[in-house]
Formats: sequence, structure tokens, C-alpha cells
Amino acid sequence: MNKTQLLNELKKEVEKCRRCPLYKTRTKIVFGTGSVNAKLMIISEAPGYWEDQKGEPFVGAAGKILDELLNSVGIKREEVYICNVLKCRPPNNRNPKTEEIKACASYLERQIELIKPRIICTLGNYSTSFIFEKYGLKNQIQGISKIHGKVFEVESLFLNIKIIPLYHPAVATYNPNMKKILAKDFKILEKPK
Ligand code: URA
Repeated sequence: MNKTQLLNELKKEVEKCRRCPLYKTRTKIVFGTGSVNAKLMIISEAPGYWEDQKGEPFVGAAGKILDELLNSVGIKREEVYICNVLKCRPPNNRNPKTEEIKACASYLERQIELIKPRIICTLGNYSTSFIFEKYGLKNQIQGISKIHGKVFEVESLFLNIKIIPLYHPAVATYNPNMKKILAKDFKILEKPK
């Protein structure tokens, strides 16, 4: 099976998932979208209302901001792969629980193994902690306000991966100053002209 087929198989598995109670309240799972050959993988927290309705990541207000930020550095959404730590929406957009993150962890790990990104951008605290723990950076975990925009290089299965924690774009929906900070941080991703 090729990468696309393997990801589709994994998606089918997630559709049947009952590892945590979130399957009872979700409308659709939000597996992930984008290029299976993406160099850049963007990992966020969990689906919100619109994502749960549509089954796609970042289709609500935060998605509009994410698209603007990607466009500002010449990256098209189709070129990257976007997904979340949790594949199901926590009711009322509450924070993910530790047990939910543990239950869902292997799905994200398999997505990373299949896509083999060279750069992973984590959006917000939850995905940053998850990825830092996975890649042995646990002792460098700090709040996103301290480490946003910094580049952490790790080696995994002989591949060099850059991990870049960023603020969650939702912060810019209620604080326009944050949009400027996000836009500045996104410049790291700008392709050389
Ligand atoms: N916020 C997230 O963390 N993920 C989404 O997919 C949408 C909004």
C-alpha cells in the first residue's frame, strides 16, 4: 500500500474509534488534510465546532487566520499537512484531558511516521508538549509565550526534524496584537526566493 492508502486505512480506524468517550459527542472525526508528501506538518490541539461539523481541520475563524498566515509566507494549504492531537471535538471546546490525549496519541504518531515531515509546527501548548515529549525535549517544555518562534532541531530515525512551536491562531481572533506576533513567527517558514 502507498502512503495515501495507509493514511486512508488509518482514517477508517479512527472513524471506528471508541478509545475515549469523545466518540459519543462528536459529529465527525477530524483526521487531517493536506499533502501526504508535505515537508511541513502543522499540529494543533483539537477540532472546534466547525471542524466537527465538516470533518476538516481549521475551517472556522482560526482557520481563516491560519490561511492568511500561510499565504503571507507563500505557502499553500494543499502543500502542508494539517492535523490535531485529538481527532474528536471536546464538548464546548473545553481543553483536552490527559486521558484523551493518551488514547489518541498513536493516531498522530502514525500520521507523523507516514508523512515523515522535515518541519513540525505545533500550535499552542497541548501539541507543543506532546511533540516535545515525543522527541526527547521534555526538559525544554515551557509555556508557549516563552518558546514561540524558536527552532528546536532533533534527529529521529536518521532524519533531521525542525520543531517550531507557535501560538495557536485562535489567540489572534480576540487579540489583534497577537496576529502581528504570529505573522513575525511565521516568517521562519518563508521559502527562500
Ligand atoms: N483549532 C484547533 O486546534 N484545531 C482545529 O482544527 C481548529 C481549531
